[in-house]
Amino acid sequence: MLCVLDLHLWRGFENTCCLEAFLGKQTWTKVALRNVPLKPGRSLMDWIRLTKSGKDLTGLKGRLTEVTEDELSKHNKKEDCWICIRGFVYNVTPYMEYHPGGEDELMKAAGADGTDLFDQVHRWVNYESMLKECLVGRMAVKPVAAPKGVLPEKKVLASSAKDLSPSYDWFQTDSLITIVIYTKQKDMNADLVIVDCQDKQLRGEIIMDDHSYLVEVDLDHAVSEDVAVNIAEKVGKVEIILNKKDNIHWKMLGQPCEGHNTFIKRTDRGLFYRKCKLISKTEVTHDTKLFCLMLPRGTHLRIPTGQHVYLKHIIAGTEVVKPYTPVLPFLPLDFQEPPCHDGVHIYLMIKIYSHGLFTQALDHLQIGDYISVSNPEGNFKKSQVQTSEDLLLLAGGTGFTPMVKLLNFALTEVSCLRTVKLIFFNKTEDDILWKNRLEQLALKDERFEVQFILSQPSKDWVGKQGKISSSLLSEFVKRSRRDSKVLICICGPAPFTEQGVQYLKDLGYSQEEIHAFTA
Ligand code: FAD
Ligand code: NAP
Repeated sequence: MLCVLDLHLWRGFENTCCLEAFLGKQTWTKVALRNVPLKPGRSLMDWIRLTKSGKDLTGLKGRLTEVTEDELSKHNKKEDCWICIRGFVYNVTPYMEYHPGGEDELMKAAGADGTDLFDQVHRWVNYESMLKECLVGRMAVKPVAAPKGVLPEKKVLASSAKDLSPSYDWFQTDSLITIVIYTKQKDMNADLVIVDCQDKQLRGEIIMDDHSYLVEVDLDHAVSEDVAVNIAEKVGKVEIILNKKDNIHWKMLGQPCEGHNTFIKRTDRGLFYRKCKLISKTEVTHDTKLFCLMLPRGTHLRIPTGQHVYLKHIIAGTEVVKPYTPVLPFLPLDFQEPPCHDGVHIYLMIKIYSHGLFTQALDHLQIGDYISVSNPEGNFKKSQVQTSEDLLLLAGGTGFTPMVKLLNFALTEVSCLRTVKLIFFNKTEDDILWKNRLEQLALKDERFEVQFILSQPSKDWVGKQGKISSSLLSEFVKRSRRDSKVLICICGPAPFTEQGVQYLKDLGYSQEEIHAFTA
């Protein structure tokens, strides 16, 4: 089966990224995040069709070859472009015109190893399937001579890294199995622990900054679907408690799976998906719906504020992946509202595009159908808000979604915040998501202010009109005090975000004061 994420194989960087490893030289490069318009007949569906047409996309008539570095470097032109990802070499020339990030982005890895660049932009893309028909072969292994008299560097690193690595243990009572993970890290919290226990398969992942520790075993005996997670935050101890189906003594926890007891970079760990059930679908506006998904019983998953998940669904026999940012079931107005995080449901506010590949498929899901949901991703850190006095949120259309949890977190948990302002750009009044609730919140909480700006208003609109611009931003984006600490978060269509960041910088805001939500 083919699996694709139709955004791009890679499409550039919003933040400054180190491409040193990829480029093989000491350099820091900033590349704009932008999709380029594709020619007609070059959509994701068209690519899927081409890969299934039986056409020889490598030019090697099905033959696989071993590629040397020298050979790889020769294929560095658009009309003859090979790229290596994780040791496998692909001829990406046929894909060039289908890459939403544009040919130039792909060409950055032409004739070279693009693994790091690929991982930094979107490691979740199942390129193996997507480029299956473009596979040229494997890289030839180069023998490396070990330096004399010293331990190989890898070994030295491995042993020091081992001391810092989490470890695990397990014990049992008549009815329970407890797996204890010693993370050796303070400030563990429930957002950092992801557990999936289905049938006899247990997977527990602990997120520790850019690293991940995994316990994954095929359990010795059956357990019930109820899983409890206890966290001793101060000492960094995590307990995963399973209920035995039968009160028998286990001789072992189970058979370790690949990746069990490893502590590696998150970018090196594949994204894990579990199937979630569609519980409800409610209208938010004429084209946007709130999808409520239910996690399986054996899953412990919290999606941190500011992070997104990937949904994976089979469309026309192909797995397609798209990112979405979970919201709350509604916008809470105060502390008295019923708790929004029940740990079981995931709410997604999704705009259905009339020609959208994925959103049309989502819209056709029936209540009770299943869809795969990934572990969370994203680089937003709550601590960015916790030290701010003014929080300014710039949202365009569904770019409002990350602002929902952020708003709630800021207004309920951050005491140093003096002002929270949402500047919400939409085309028409009918497009404004949760307009009434936002207005109610502004009335209720004097720290919060909302400003709606429409680019295509009807003649009855008495509010602000316009597009994101330097003058609009200088009117609405202000510090409450001359020296107040400010955080400005921005999210919307890629060009909206890109322009917004530039205008903010032109207005004198620093990179540290701006957070742009991107994939
Ligand atoms: P597509 O098939 O990609 O098309 C979307 C629209 O654009 C259609 O109208 C189509 O006709 C048009 N179009 C497609 N390609 C072109 C082109 N080359 N030129 C001109 N027009 C074109 N969306 C939400 O609704 N809610 C969220 O919470 C959310 N969170 C996100 C989080 C992140 C991190 C990111 C990056 C995106 C998020 N999105 C969200 C957007 C989402 O991932 C999808 O891009 C969106 O749902 C559209 O998918 P689609 O397959 O239906 O549309
Ligand atoms: P939309 O309705 O098309 O537009 C919303 C507002 O943005 C409108 O005022 C629109 O004005 C403006 N806008 C659109 N394109 C612009 C551009 N090129 N330059 C300046 N302003 C522009 O938006 P939408 O359909 O809801 O799309 C929302 C976008 O947000 C999607 O691209 C989605 O991928 C993204 N998103 C990202 C994340 C994330 O975390 N990264 C999360 C959620 C959503 P005009 O009248 O000028 O078009």
